Amino acid sequence: LAESLKVPATQIVAFAFKHLGLMVTINQRMDFDQIELIASEFGYIAVREEDYAASAEEDEVKDAAEDLKPRPPVVTIMGHVDHGKTSLLDYIRKATVVAGEAGGITQHIGAYHVSLPDGRQITFLDTPGHEAFTAMRARGAQVTDIVVLVVAADDAVMPQTIEAISHAKNAGVPIIVAINKIDLPTANAMKVRQDLLQHGVVLEDFGGTTLASEISAKKGTGVKELLEQILLQAEILDLKANPDRRATGSVVEAQLDQGKGAVATILVQNGTLKVGDDFICGLHSGRVRALLDERGKQVKEAGPAVPVQVLGLTGVPMAGDQFIVVADAQEAREIAQRRERLDREAKSRRTAKGAVSLEDFMASAASGEKRQLKLLIKADQGGPAEALADALQQLSNEEVQVEVVARAVGAVTESDILLAKASGAIIIGFHVRPDTKARAAADREGVEIKLYRIIYEAVADVKAALEGLLRPEE
Ligand code: GDP
Repeated sequence: LAESLKVPATQIVAFAFKHLGLMVTINQRMDFDQIELIASEFGYIAVREEDYAASAEEDEVKDAAEDLKPRPPVVTIMGHVDHGKTSLLDYIRKATVVAGEAGGITQHIGAYHVSLPDGRQITFLDTPGHEAFTAMRARGAQVTDIVVLVVAADDAVMPQTIEAISHAKNAGVPIIVAINKIDLPTANAMKVRQDLLQHGVVLEDFGGTTLASEISAKKGTGVKELLEQILLQAEILDLKANPDRRATGSVVEAQLDQGKGAVATILVQNGTLKVGDDFICGLHSGRVRALLDERGKQVKEAGPAVPVQVLGLTGVPMAGDQFIVVADAQEAREIAQRRERLDREAKSRRTAKGAVSLEDFMASAASGEKRQLKLLIKADQGGPAEALADALQQLSNEEVQVEVVARAVGAVTESDILLAKASGAIIIGFHVRPDTKARAAADREGVEIKLYRIIYEAVADVKAALEGLLRPEE
């Protein structure tokens, strides 16, 4: 269960103990009702396999290998502010390297897909930056296959570049580097390559496996090569899906439109979505009234990795929500209602206590595997951030491991909260404070922030929590 929910088993043990009054160990079987409650706490919906099978076409849960067809890669563009993420997305959207259908891409629906002249396709998430990526991950949606990391050659690696690297690494998503602004006289691509090396991104030139292109998002230089590298990386990833089944996907963005009502951009991840399909989407249900592509054109269906705007929702879902086509409308409504209730219950529990906290770790001494305490460190300066990370990592012992998922300089931001939530980490702030948005996000997501002004105190607290984690001697 912990593996499927992508949280440490200790968190499940702690949650079961504190909120369900259950003393469980990792070897214990749980019944469906308990699993359902736990899944809802961590942002998932548990569905009985027989129910799921019944709603899946041809009563199949898993796709047979021969039904799987190659699908286009889904790409998110990340990087430091002003390094050219938006310019790159704009250039690709309009580019002549893309076999443009008449009219081009006119609508911002949160994602778009382009076809190269030879017919190969790439899908881009159209919201640059880290928040969209982490917000989706925090809700359990894994939509991105490849991260394109934009680094301006006149500026090299900056704090948000480093942040993007940790986001991608934590999500296990390969990076392709786009060294941008090479048209500038001050551009120094070599410095970018060397800087990246220092941050654990080893480019091919240095014997690593990370691909890189030198580009000018403004002039279009090198963009074609970048698209080739994306397709090469996609080939290595061997991305496949089964177009011949009911669609499942994730919400990329959603809003209430004055004319159209609730609309959501869905990235289809498996199957084919068709007009007339009944579906569940987050806490809502509905029937597809119309599908619109990024050119504002009505389409009849959308296959794997294709983004479409869906009309016909009963309410506005959230980015990262799951979208599932089901066999009939009645079933869709029932599941949506059930989810809504579970969601309400999980929310009321969360207001009482954070989802990830040092206390939870202390309370989880009952479980029996190698445990991990994940930390995200923010400090006012690089020196203390490193010192703190080293000191805390040294607290690792045979039984419990302290893992620093990210360390960075600056205030605690919303993006940190989302990364912490996605990776099940606690935030340690040293001489920094969360900003208002971060505080609200921490409350909402139930992420614990511990603030310190003395390194020793941070170390002492974490040490105490680890001791709570240690198994009693046998
Ligand atoms: P974002 O914040 O990463 O989305 O960056 P933008 O795409 O908004 O770009 C920031 C600034 O850099 C804008 O003024 C762009 O015109 C400029 N810029 C982006 N790409 C290039 C490039 O390849 N060459 C030059 N000279 N300027 C660029």
